[in-house]
Amino acid sequence: MERRDRLQTNLNTVMEHISSAALRSGRNPQSIHLVTVGKTQSVQAIDAAISAGARIIGENYIQEARQKIESLGHRDVQWHYIGHLQSNKAKYAVRLFDLIHSVDSVKLMAALDHRAGKIDKIQNILLQVNNSGEASKSGVDESAAEEVALHIAQFPNLRLQGLMTMPPFFNAPEKVRPYFTRLRNLRDQLCKLLNQELPHLSMGMSGDFEVAVQEGATLVRVGTAIFGERL
Ligand SMILES: *Cc1c(COP(=O)(O)O)cnc(C)c1O
Repeated sequence: MERRDRLQTNLNTVMEHISSAALRSGRNPQSIHLVTVGKTQSVQAIDAAISAGARIIGENYIQEARQKIESLGHRDVQWHYIGHLQSNKAKYAVRLFDLIHSVDSVKLMAALDHRAGKIDKIQNILLQVNNSGEASKSGVDESAAEEVALHIAQFPNLRLQGLMTMPPFFNAPEKVRPYFTRLRNLRDQLCKLLNQELPHLSMGMSGDFEVAVQEGATLVRVGTAIFGERL
């Protein structure tokens, strides 16, 4: 099959699986947004994915994303940042991205707030939570999430839209379910604490997005199931 056809087929399949998982759990499929993860993929591959119907592109690396957005910024898509972000890249992140999923410290919040203020932008962010306790994963510990989230009030140029997590890897998607449930419960808790809506839960990847949808995901981040294995 031609790459374009394969991409179209894969994207359709993922969207159908999102819809059916949503319907099975009594959710509106429209409340779930597919983030097509483009890391390591070429500009041409991203371009083809957009033509095939991708509406949100997720990127992990600032430099790589800059090149893609320069080439494809005219296309009608949103760009989301999902990789680990260092404070010294905040300036680029606020220029380039509609939503930053991976905010994991007060220091990074302060840097993003400062840089967003300079370009008169209200930057939408998610708080990344490490609810697996794995040292290799970024994100604030579950136990520190309340304290970090409370700092949001001091940053007028940031809008907290919800939470993101990267659970441990399991071959069996069912094993990931408890981590998704915990993220949803934490979100509900923070809504009460902050007295605001936190509409988004960014969770679920190629191997487990259907379980994530059943547990309330509004943003699923899918790469491999769309583009094939990364080189
Ligand atoms: C790479 C990546 C994904 C997509 O993973 P796949 O298994 O290829 O679907 C999702 N989220 C983050 C943060 C990633 O780095």
